[in-house]
Amino acid sequence: MAGLLMQRVAVLGATGSIGTSALDVIARHPETMRASVLAAGRQVEALLEACRRHRPDDAAIADEAALPRLREGLREAGLPTRAHAGMEAIAALAGDGGSDTVVAAIVGAAGLDSTLSAANAGKRLLLANKESLVLAGELVMAAARDRGARIIPIDSEHNAIFQCLPADGDCADVRRLVLTASGGPFRGRDRASLAEVTPAQAVAHPKWSMGPKISVDSATLMNKGLEVIEAHHLFGLPADRIDVLVHPQSLVHSLVEFIDGSTLAQLGLPDMRTALAVGLGWPRRIASGVGGLDLLAQGRLDFEAPDTDAFPCLRLAFDALRAGGTAPAVLNAANEEAVSAFLQGRIGFLAIPALVEDALAALPARPAASLGALREADALARASTRAALARHAP
Ligand code: NAD
Ligand code: MG
Repeated sequence: MAGLLMQRVAVLGATGSIGTSALDVIARHPETMRASVLAAGRQVEALLEACRRHRPDDAAIADEAALPRLREGLREAGLPTRAHAGMEAIAALAGDGGSDTVVAAIVGAAGLDSTLSAANAGKRLLLANKESLVLAGELVMAAARDRGARIIPIDSEHNAIFQCLPADGDCADVRRLVLTASGGPFRGRDRASLAEVTPAQAVAHPKWSMGPKISVDSATLMNKGLEVIEAHHLFGLPADRIDVLVHPQSLVHSLVEFIDGSTLAQLGLPDMRTALAVGLGWPRRIASGVGGLDLLAQGRLDFEAPDTDAFPCLRLAFDALRAGGTAPAVLNAANEEAVSAFLQGRIGFLAIPALVEDALAALPARPAASLGALREADALARASTRAALARHAP
């Protein structure tokens, strides 16, 4: 009986910011859901800690060298959890019969295979891994459509839009989507003043606590650019019907304007457990651990236009979406390489948009009919950006 009611959840990226928030929500509902699969990149001790707490059937680590330690730690803890290693194993677990729901919370293009695998298996897909939509949005959406996978976006903006749309997700009556942006830690600064900012300053987000890569993306506004592309795929609207509004309080998570002039918005505290609870409980509402919003205490809601002179990544992402084909894959791959170099202290903050712009210029958009063409564009953009990095910062 309990087995029929029990939602089994695979949490991919279980040691990260989204993964731990997902496990927090799951643990609040032991009667109706459990984490049956946990997967992580390299942090084997953090994965073991999550296994001790959540007792999954399967645990997987992408780093194959960490498999012996994973096995040993599971044995020491007396757990029957099966140990796996490698990206292929993680993608296989995303698609096999050991889970009903997949939380796709791996960071970067590395999440694409498992996202596609879950979509192809027709699972409920709680999609935080926005890079997989930027890289291969048509293919992910087509797989979900063909196999009956229900995608619930776990990006606060897209989750807000999901909540504002009719239950069938129909966008026929939508005039435009408005994605809100916090503006990141450098909101209000001009371009010249950004030359010397450090990785520590860039990851110190004023409103959200997130992993390092998305935190840097928030500081450059590339995160909002990736989200515009993500929204295009999730909701099927063209670039000119997706707007961005800076909203520093991060309480209005996005807005949907309908053809009758109505605008619906979703509001809440900036805590990803709300979006995860929407996905895990859908179509019901379930407790998330997040408190309500006290607008009187908050006092005000401000809105301003994004500054694309200081933060050109947002413009570059719109350009890539309009160019179509392989351009978003190039944008994403160059950005991942540039952000990684910035976090390592190898380049300055302003080099991130410069490297992305160079990659887009060097690799003009080509048709992206197949996964192979997209992977090739991704690989070429990484190679081109790494070569540029070697010239600038050997
Ligand atoms: P994070 O860096 O905190 O966690 C990333 C997780 O992915 C870790 O568990 C890590 O071990 C795992 N991982 C990394 N490489 C891997 C690989 N090759 N194979 C398997 N696992 C791997 O990142 P995060 O902030 O949780 O973000 C995860 C995703 O969710 C990103 O795509 C991000 O854009 C998106 N997202 C995050 C937030 C947020 O609030 N953190 C909000 C919206 C969207
Ligand atoms: Mg977001």
